[in-house]
Amino acid sequence: MTTNNLKININNIEWDIKYVPENSDVLDGCRGMCCYRTSTIYVTNNLKPSETARALFHEIAHAVLAETDYGIEIKEALGNNYEKFITLLGDRIKDVCIEYPILEKSYDNK
Ligand SMILES: [Zn+2]
Repeated sequence: MTTNNLKININNIEWDIKYVPENSDVLDGCRGMCCYRTSTIYVTNNLKPSETARALFHEIAHAVLAETDYGIEIKEALGNNYEKFITLLGDRIKDVCIEYPILEKSYDNK
């Protein structure tokens, strides 16, 4: 599978999406990692497409939540269910992005 690094904007912050080898230190043994300090999302580059999408959108959900400034509050409130919530939020974000790419055209008059 081909993976390409990308930049996205969340809350007017530029986030880097970087695909890295699974043994990369930045992943710390995980499939993905969201680094709030550098606004970088890392995803391992050797997953099946469906697994890559799930890992990517999981990390995007972390980033989106962090950019609301309620990330810590929600994490503390959800406790052990926090990561499950992030996975579900990422799945729903993916559903909307993939199903309705036309959304951008509904408000972007460029
Ligand atoms: Zn997570």
